[in-house]
Amino acid sequence: MKKIYLDYAATTPTDPEVIKAMQPYFFDKFGNPSSIHSFGQEAKKAIEDAREKTAAFLGAQPQEIVFTSGGTESNNFAIQGIAYAMQKKGNHIITTAIEHHAIIEPCKFLESRGFKVNFVGPDKYGLINPQDIKKAITEKTILISVMHANNEIGTIQPIAEIGKIARENGIYFHTDAVQTVGHIPVKVDDLNVDLLSLSAHKFYGPKGIGALYIRKGTRIERFLHGGDQERNRRSSTYNTPGIVGLGKAVELCQDNMKQEMEDQSKLRDRLIKTIQEKIPHTYLNGHPTLRLPNNVNISIEYIEGESIILNLDIEGIAVSTGSACTSSSLEPSHVLLAIGQPPELAHGSLRLTLGRYTKESDIDYLLGVLPKIVQKLRLMSPLYKEAK
Ligand SMILES: *Cc1c(COP(=O)(O)O)cnc(C)c1O
Repeated sequence: MKKIYLDYAATTPTDPEVIKAMQPYFFDKFGNPSSIHSFGQEAKKAIEDAREKTAAFLGAQPQEIVFTSGGTESNNFAIQGIAYAMQKKGNHIITTAIEHHAIIEPCKFLESRGFKVNFVGPDKYGLINPQDIKKAITEKTILISVMHANNEIGTIQPIAEIGKIARENGIYFHTDAVQTVGHIPVKVDDLNVDLLSLSAHKFYGPKGIGALYIRKGTRIERFLHGGDQERNRRSSTYNTPGIVGLGKAVELCQDNMKQEMEDQSKLRDRLIKTIQEKIPHTYLNGHPTLRLPNNVNISIEYIEGESIILNLDIEGIAVSTGSACTSSSLEPSHVLLAIGQPPELAHGSLRLTLGRYTKESDIDYLLGVLPKIVQKLRLMSPLYKEAK
């Protein structure tokens, strides 16, 4: 059966070239990078190469990059690391209501430890107004964290503008750029950020490896205590194959980004337009133009997102409703609720995310199958019958 993957925001396949680059570091070049013998030094050199590539990609300095186990750790490191380093100055954090759980949960944890957190709400397109961030600032604010692009609805935030406000007020600014690094240009100086999280498995690298950019001079407490790796900022034996894979993934994105953005946004726009033409009572979620080139999020009235997913899966098509982390619960997505969507409609949301290996024919196939599935499900829906 034809198998079509349209869930790139949940994770991407590891590019075969990335796998090839990683391969030698499992057996031939397996040394511990902290060892001073040649086995260690060979691995160390590969790590520093990857660090330089990653830094250059972000317009940063190599010593400003700390490798982590992924987006979740980078976010926890940033949020808790700044909170504990700055608690003498204040205990107030500003973030948004549409962040990934890997930001919301550490913030809630800090609330239970005496910190105060403001979760600023978006407008109906999922956009955060920088003035709302500004208004939330108090004398005790020590950190602002706003995601670069939303993983569910794809809206891209005015990060540079928010960063400017943070800087004018002497407050550290972090962005969760897990959905943007490798997909659209991300430069730390253009964005005015002090900290930035990224994760390799969202841009064709392996799972379990990521990085936190920490601007030189930033006061941050370590998150993992132990050995003196990463210039004493993050303990644990270096994940050499993972780091090498991340470096290679960065290189491939650097080479291909412009073309991929162009190709994917064309397919995205065709999907959005055709779904709305072919299926009545559907609504685009997120911003019409300030959105990721690969993100389509649509609410389909009168049906459950889960039923569509299962029916599409039978046809060999993988998509998502809400985000992968929340789809095991029956709660509607916190992001869709935050943009003001009624829970019934939020339940019928569908996220299609495209990527490097998406073909025009995949989109054709989906567009052939989806309207039939929706029609079948609607005919079984009592709500639909009532509304007719
Ligand atoms: C996937 C994702 C994360 C978590 O990254 P992991 O590497 O899977 O821990 C964090 N934030 C956003 C926006 C994401 O999309």
